Amino acid sequence: MAAFSYAPIPMRYNPDMSTHTDDTSSAKGSVPDSDDSRVLLHCCCAPCTQVPLASLQDEGWQVSLYFYNPNIHPAEEYAKRLCTLREYAEANAVPLALGPYDPQTWEETVGIHGGPYPIIEGASDAPAMRAARTARCRACYQLRFEALAAHAEATACHGLDTTLTISPYQCTREAQSALAQCAESLGLTALATDWRSFYAEATRRSRVLGMYRQNYCGCHYSEQEARLEKQARKRARQAAQQAGLSLSPLQTEGEGPDCGENRHGTGRA
Ligand code: SF4
Ligand code: SF4
Repeated sequence: MAAFSYAPIPMRYNPDMSTHTDDTSSAKGSVPDSDDSRVLLHCCCAPCTQVPLASLQDEGWQVSLYFYNPNIHPAEEYAKRLCTLREYAEANAVPLALGPYDPQTWEETVGIHGGPYPIIEGASDAPAMRAARTARCRACYQLRFEALAAHAEATACHGLDTTLTISPYQCTREAQSALAQCAESLGLTALATDWRSFYAEATRRSRVLGMYRQNYCGCHYSEQEARLEKQARKRARQAAQQAGLSLSPLQTEGEGPDCGENRHGTGRA
């Protein structure tokens, strides 16, 4: 391909991690004065798609959605997330393209990193678990963003972005880095916006709309990790109560009435 002529799209992702910023407002660029303002937005679920889609559209980008998530397990869960996103895309008249649902590919390229790696704050193996999970999630981002970039190239979208970076439970920098790498390999541009400051707003909007909301990231390992981490928090809370201590919000989150909604564990995912 590469027969297209694009105006430069400002990059939001700062590959220099030492100067990386979490401030999304300061990372926004202006849209070029051309028709080449097409962005393909990788979507992982509908609740997290709302704010990135609206923000990009507000800035003048022509946004198409792309759903390629072979990590999601089981197939019933995949169908629920896709169905919710489809309804949202149709309601907002936004094009939505689907990649194949090929969990076998995920197992062979990502699942080989293993798990579950529950990150129990304070546990001696927490750093090792965090490192192992980060490596697995990086591979998972890479797999999905390679497909995103290929579809973008095939459909003349020059910019790439993802909804994954709205979740504070993801490895934001790994996701941004993987997206940048995949974009660069095909001569595309990664916006790679850090959407985390919009997470609360996305959660609020999805509740208002009554959207289906999941309680784990997607893969079978993440489902186990979320359960194990929740059990650990419960044990910690009970131990603290018995000792007459109170726990910080981080130590207790997930146990209240909002437990489980779009939470991927209390550590990062
Ligand atoms: S990271 Fe989680 S909450 Fe965010 S888009 Fe993916 S499934 Fe949705
Ligand atoms: S926890 Fe989420 S990002 Fe990490 S490997 Fe599993 S599905 Fe992929």
